[in-house]
Amino acid sequence: MASRRVNSRAVKLHRSYSVSELAACFGVHKNTVRQWQRDGLKPIDSGRPVLFQGAIVRAFLSARNASRKRPCPPGTLYCFRCREPRPPALGMVDYLSLNAKSGNVRAICATCETVMHRRASKAALAAVLPGCDIQFVEALPRLKGSPAPSLNCDLETQAAV
Ligand SMILES: [Zn+2]
Repeated sequence: MASRRVNSRAVKLHRSYSVSELAACFGVHKNTVRQWQRDGLKPIDSGRPVLFQGAIVRAFLSARNASRKRPCPPGTLYCFRCREPRPPALGMVDYLSLNAKSGNVRAICATCETVMHRRASKAALAAVLPGCDIQFVEALPRLKGSPAPSLNCDLETQAAV
């Protein structure tokens, strides 16, 4: 289970924070802050109590959040409830064409039964979802001119390859 992503903007740039102040600021346990320190978050100096500068904390957490983005492995869609890539329940997915080349893949999370979405190009479907039973669904006419909801996230990059 992935740990929760914190909002790096919760700290003020020009303030310094003790371990417990940082923990309170982000709503995490003090041990989480100590883990950040082991992961490379640098205190202001080697003095006691250990203090961290807001700007350094923010830069550390932003970089850490960015590095945690990762594409879904083949055969999975990103489940926003599990916060993990998950395989479709029973290997069943729907593909809703948006145009001749690409569309939205829709499936049910095998773990928590939440509906998951992923954009995929038609040509890449077999590579993106190997071994899945893909149902091709005709997209409904766009009566209101609004496109079908598709989650615009970095998962698309893999599907586009
Ligand atoms: Zn799930």
